[in-house]
Amino acid sequence: MQENNVLELVDKGFYLPLMEEFYTIQGEGFHKGTAAYFIRVGGCDVGCHWCDVKESWNAETHPPTDIEHIVENAAKYSDTIVVTGGEPLTWDMGPLTEKLKARNLKTHIETSGAYTLTGTWDWICLSPKKNKLPEGRIYDEAHELKVIVYNKHDLIFAEEQASQTNKECILYLQPEWSVREKVTPLIVEYVMKNPKWKVSLQTHKYLNIP
Ligand code: SF4
Repeated sequence: MQENNVLELVDKGFYLPLMEEFYTIQGEGFHKGTAAYFIRVGGCDVGCHWCDVKESWNAETHPPTDIEHIVENAAKYSDTIVVTGGEPLTWDMGPLTEKLKARNLKTHIETSGAYTLTGTWDWICLSPKKNKLPEGRIYDEAHELKVIVYNKHDLIFAEEQASQTNKECILYLQPEWSVREKVTPLIVEYVMKNPKWKVSLQTHKYLNIP
């Protein structure tokens, strides 16, 4: 296929820059412990300095892949599909989720919310980042808010973000992995004082799985 045609298909969400896909256990947030198939889409310009998937940032390094092929693969492994990145909302998630739903698969997304919410989702994990704040509507739609805590100031940011979410949204504070020993005690103390929050840990990293 001509390069221009492929770019056009990526633009429309029929092809996506696929970084990796794998069957594992969801380690974080509300669905932790649940087996799920992860689709990691390349492309992110949010620029978190502690990002643990910096290889995802440049979409051009990940092959544009037909979503038919992605869905076909995913359906072989699990009925729960987690779309992550990178920042998946860089792209139009409509076509991918339409195809996943047509196969009766549950669609979950992990997003910073920095771009317009597209797609049909059974579960939206909003993990806002200070560098590029979420676009309005996603606060109403998010099922969980997961704030990554790198330092004490992130607790103030967490409250600012929580004040914008819908009432049913479940609130999580998660230590950033590289500073977990320093910030976990802060989070534990904070959650005990402010029990509307829950602790989320990257349990997949403790289990040594992807
Ligand atoms: S939004 Fe996610 S993928 Fe993008 S830089 Fe931040 S942590 Fe990394």
